[in-house]
Amino acid sequence: MDEKDYTKEPEKSGDCEGKKEENKRDDGFEKVCYMCRRPESKAGPMISMPGGMNLCHSCMQKAFDSVTKSGMDLSKLSGMPYMNMNIGDMMNMAPPAMEIPQRQKIRKKSQPQPALTLKDIPAPHRIKGQLDEYVIGQEKAKKAVAVAVYNHYKRAFLEQEEDGVVIEKSNILMIGPTGSGKTYLVKTLARLLDVPLAIADATSLTEAGYIGDDIESVVSKLLAAADNDVERAQKGIIFIDEIDKIAKKKQTNTRDVSGESVQQELLKLLEGSTVEVPVGSNQKNAMTPMATVNTDNILFICGGAFPDLEDIIKERLRKKSSMGFGAVLKDSFDEDPDILSHVTNEDLRAFGMIPEFLGRLPVTVTLQGLTKEMLVRVLKEPKNAIIKQYEKLLAMDEVKLVFEDEALSWIAGEALKRGTGARALRAILEEFMLDIMYEIPKDPNIGSVVVTRPYLEKHGGPLIRMRE
Ligand code: ADP
Repeated sequence: MDEKDYTKEPEKSGDCEGKKEENKRDDGFEKVCYMCRRPESKAGPMISMPGGMNLCHSCMQKAFDSVTKSGMDLSKLSGMPYMNMNIGDMMNMAPPAMEIPQRQKIRKKSQPQPALTLKDIPAPHRIKGQLDEYVIGQEKAKKAVAVAVYNHYKRAFLEQEEDGVVIEKSNILMIGPTGSGKTYLVKTLARLLDVPLAIADATSLTEAGYIGDDIESVVSKLLAAADNDVERAQKGIIFIDEIDKIAKKKQTNTRDVSGESVQQELLKLLEGSTVEVPVGSNQKNAMTPMATVNTDNILFICGGAFPDLEDIIKERLRKKSSMGFGAVLKDSFDEDPDILSHVTNEDLRAFGMIPEFLGRLPVTVTLQGLTKEMLVRVLKEPKNAIIKQYEKLLAMDEVKLVFEDEALSWIAGEALKRGTGARALRAILEEFMLDIMYEIPKDPNIGSVVVTRPYLEKHGGPLIRMRE
């Protein structure tokens, strides 16, 4: 443990430390010289005096000059406390505890976050390496996403195409069962690239003019995620979940306002267009200011579980294999856990996605349903694994928490039964951890707790050991 006495005053160790302190106190205002009224952007760094007063160097010099010439005692000047102090003493004093009066400061011009450059985007193997620390399995998906994202940002930072070679946008279609890590992968990606991310649900989108969010609301969300910085938003990521829910409705007599029409309206956004979106709201009205956002360099990732897609793929593969010499056993595809990876645009069209829409999502990534072994790994391996979180919480009470392997395997098995992938893990664990988290802090003599399988199966308790 890093032992530090926080009650002590901060040490003044050199320039760098001083700057850090200064930054900590940066409240978005500039200091203004008490005498000449110039801000520090014009008059240079200020000397902060006790009492919340600031003086620029030249006024300070003038003050000293007049003292030495006339022998005036500055301490008698009203409104200028501490002026009889040695300058060295003043600099060593603790910063004034009182709030500096606002008339002593003017607001700084807002400083936008530095713009993203290609150097900020790690190479694909590094992106994959960082994803590995969080996302278990899904090797192919992580690799494909890493390459697509890297290419996307290369394209975004390309100045001009003098040679006529135009790099096309590499928006991504992500297919995988519920709880396989689609959203998690995208969230992790945005965090490690430090780009703004908006997550929208395709089911809430409707054709403009109908009840529901209009399509452009997804761009509004991204702008909000970028703190209304249009530059940053234009290099962000928009994840549209449940994209399979806007498949074309089969045999419908009414207008398909939340299916095919939404796909049609998304086309323009996906390929890159300029949209006017309200700032700080997703409702357009006369009172909200509008911003113009170009979606050309926004990476769109559309994700969905696409139920029944497996059957469509199997059907196609069966038809193909039953013809010609290479006939394969009919049921061999039923056993394939990675059947989704055989998906083609033809299958997705049969599912109800329109060809133009699929054309705007050239990279297809598939994720596998998590197996029991993978679920056990999800419990304990990621950097912020659920188990690590509980261990940390109890470690704060100086109690060691241990999960038996058998217990982890039982939890994974239960999660598998629920059919919602890794999503079920936390709910199951929370149910059992409640009692432990409630009871353990009661007794300061408890040194460790072991979660056992019998405890989870409700015919035993956790193993508790006292401190020596
Ligand atoms: P979906 O595929 O339905 O979008 P999510 O990404 O929302 O699933 O997953 C739900 C939660 O399960 C995540 O927040 C994450 O904690 C966990 N999870 C899912 N898949 C993985 C995985 N492959 N590796 C690690 N954690 C995962």
